Amino acid sequence: MSLLRSYVSGGWHTPTAEGAPLHDAVTGEEIARISSAGIDMGAALAYGRSVGGPALRELTFHQRAQLLKALGLYLKEHKAELYALSARSGATRSDSWIDIDGGFGVLLGYASKAKRELPNDKVYVDGAVEPLGRGGTFVGQHICTPLRGVAVQINAFNFPMWGPLEKFAPAFIAGVPSLIKPASQTAYVTEKLVELMLASGLLPEGSLQLVCGSAGDLLDHLTPQDLVGFTGSASTAQHLRTHQAVIRSSVRFNAEADSLNCSILGPDAVAGTPEFDLFVGQLVTEMTTKAGQKCTAIRRALVPASLMDAVAEATAAKLAEVVIGNPADKSVKMGALAGLEQREEVRRSLKALQENASVVYGDGALSLVDADAERGAFMSPMLLRAAADAVQPHEVEAFGPVSTLMPYDSVEDAVELAARGAGSLVGSIVSADTDFVRDVVIGVAPWHGRLLVLDRDDAGESTGHGSPLPMLVHGGPGRAGGGEEMGGMRGVLHHMQRTAVQGSPKTLAAVTNRWVTGAPRTEDAVHPFRKTLAELRLGDTVVAGPREVTLEDIEHFASFTGDTFYAHMDSEAAAANPFFGGRVAHGYLVVSFAAGLFVSPEPGPVLANYGLENLRFVTPTFPGDLLTVTLTAKQITPREDQEYGEVRWDADVTNQKGESVARYDVLTLVAKH
Ligand code: NAP
Repeated sequence: MSLLRSYVSGGWHTPTAEGAPLHDAVTGEEIARISSAGIDMGAALAYGRSVGGPALRELTFHQRAQLLKALGLYLKEHKAELYALSARSGATRSDSWIDIDGGFGVLLGYASKAKRELPNDKVYVDGAVEPLGRGGTFVGQHICTPLRGVAVQINAFNFPMWGPLEKFAPAFIAGVPSLIKPASQTAYVTEKLVELMLASGLLPEGSLQLVCGSAGDLLDHLTPQDLVGFTGSASTAQHLRTHQAVIRSSVRFNAEADSLNCSILGPDAVAGTPEFDLFVGQLVTEMTTKAGQKCTAIRRALVPASLMDAVAEATAAKLAEVVIGNPADKSVKMGALAGLEQREEVRRSLKALQENASVVYGDGALSLVDADAERGAFMSPMLLRAAADAVQPHEVEAFGPVSTLMPYDSVEDAVELAARGAGSLVGSIVSADTDFVRDVVIGVAPWHGRLLVLDRDDAGESTGHGSPLPMLVHGGPGRAGGGEEMGGMRGVLHHMQRTAVQGSPKTLAAVTNRWVTGAPRTEDAVHPFRKTLAELRLGDTVVAGPREVTLEDIEHFASFTGDTFYAHMDSEAAAANPFFGGRVAHGYLVVSFAAGLFVSPEPGPVLANYGLENLRFVTPTFPGDLLTVTLTAKQITPREDQEYGEVRWDADVTNQKGESVARYDVLTLVAKH
C-alpha cells in the first residue's frame, strides 16, 4: 500500500511509520496511508525562510506572475491524473471541475491581475505621497514588502486542489514561500498536485513544501514573520489561533471556518416568477454539489411565510430528480461524502437539527447507481423545515447535503434571521424588487463576506452562490472565522508588511523607484521622448512653453469641438459664475496645448499615449494667460513578455504666475530598445 510522501527541506520524505489508512469514498477500499512521522518541522520552516524566501524576493511581481501563469497552463495539461484521484473522494466530474479547474483559474486569475495591478518591481507602493511639511522637503509614503517567513497553509478536506491553490497563489505573488498541509482525508489528491507543481520545474527552490499527515509540532516553530492560513472547522480554528507560538509572536492568522450561509427569497418572487425558479434551482445545486460539503453551501433558506409550502414542494420535486451514486457513472449528479466518518458526523448534526424541524425530503429509501450504501459514504439530500423560532439551524452545521427552510414575515425579520448565523462567508438574495434587495443587502452586509443578488437579469451569467472568485473577497466575520482570502490584490497584501516611510522626496523616490514631487529633475539636451526604455531615467524632464491662450483660441476650440458651454462663450453668464468671474479656456484646450508643447513629433521610441490619470484643473485659464508644461518621467514599467513597457509621466501645467492650472499623469507605451 502506498505511503503518501511529504516534500520538505528540498526533498521528498517517506514517513518513518506505517501511517493511518485513507479510504476510497465510493468503494471503501484503502487508497494510501498517511503519516508525517520523521519530518523535522522546524527545519522545513527554516528551509522555506532561508531558501524559498530569498529566491522569490529576487523576482519582481511580474516575473512571479509569469511563473504562476506558466504553472497554471502546465497543470491544465496534466489534469487527467488529478481527475482520477478526485473521483475517489466521492466527487462527480462537475464537483472535480470546481476543485481542479477552479484551482487553475485562481492561478491564472492572480497572474493576470498581478501583471495589471502591480508594478514590475519588488516593492508595492500603497496610496499617495503624504506631504508632512510646508516646504515640501518632508513627505511620507506607505510601502509593502514581503514578510520574511513562510505561509503555513492548513486546508480542509473538501477542496484538496482549489483550497491549497487559492492560498498558494497570493503568497507566491507576494514573494512568500508556502508550506501546504492538506487535510489528511483527501491528501492523496494534494500530494499529486504538489508532485506536478514541482515537476513543472517552474517554481524557485524552497517556494513550495508539503506536509502530509499530522502537523505535529509545526506551529511551535513559528516566528514573527510567518503566517498561518487556516481553512477548516471553527473548533480547530479556535484551537490553533490560541496556540502559544501564534500568540507569542503575533503571527498573522487567517481563518476560514464553517458558516451557516443563508439564501433569502424576496416576497415578490412568488411561484411562476423567474426568481422563484432561480431560488429553488440554486438551493438544490448548493445542497448536492460536492454532496453539500462546501463551506459556502446554503444551510438556511429563508422564505416569506406565505411561500413556504410552494418552495418546499418545488424543491422536493427537484431533489427527487437528483441521481445519486458512483461518480464514475455519467448519469450521477451527486456522489459520496468524503468518507464514512464524515457521514457519521453529518448524521449526528442532522439529529440535532431535527429536534425542531420536520423532514420535507430525504427520509425515503436511498436508491444508488452502481454503488453500495454500506461501503461508500452515500446519503440522500435532506431538506428540513423549521419553525421561525428554531435555534438549531443558526447553530448546527451539517457538512453534507442538508438545508433547512425557515419562514420570515418582514424585511427586518429576514435580516434578523440572517444575522443569527453569527457571521457567514456568503449570502444570497433572490428577488427582482430592488427596494427589498437594497434594505436586505445593507442590513445583512455586516454579517457577510460576500453577497450574491440573483434575478432574471444576471442569472445567465451568475457564477452562483457557492463559488468564491479570485477577484472577490472570500471569508466572513464571526463564526466564518473573521478572515479574508483572495479579493484580488488584497490577498497578496495580506502576505506583506505595510510600512510608513518618512523622508525627503529624493530619498522616497530612491526607495520606491518612482519620481516624487520635490525630487530632483534632470533636463538634458535629449528630449525624454527620444529615449528608449533602457535609456530613460526617473526624473528625466522636458519643460516646454510658454504659449499664450487667446480668446480666438477659445472660440476656435469651441466651434471646432462643439463645446460651447457658457463659461467659454458668454461673457455675462461667465462673469456671474462663482468660480470664474469671466470667460475661461476649456480644460481640454489646456491639456491639448500642453501636449502640443511637450511632444517630440518624429517617429521614435514612444509608441502610443494610452491615457491620462488623476486629471485635475486646479486654476482657471483666462484669455491672455501663458501656459508652460513640465513633464517628468515618474514610473517606468518594462513588460516581461513584450518589446515595450509603460512610462507614467507627471504633467504640471502652470500659468505666468507659476500657479498650477492642470495636473495629471500621462501614460505612454515606450519601446525597450
Ligand atoms: P478540520 O477538522 O478543522 O481540519 C482542518 C485542517 O486542520 C486539516 O488540515 C487538519 O488536519 C488540520 N488540523 C486539525 N487539527 C490540527 C492541529 N492541532 N494542528 C494543525 N492542524 C490541525 O476541518 P475539516 O473536517 O477538514 O473541514 C471541514 C470543515 O471546514 C467544515 O466545518 C467546513 O465548513 C469548513 N470549511 C471552511 C471553508 C472556508 O473556506 N471557510 C472551506 C472548506 C471547509 P488533519 O486532517 O490532518 O487532521
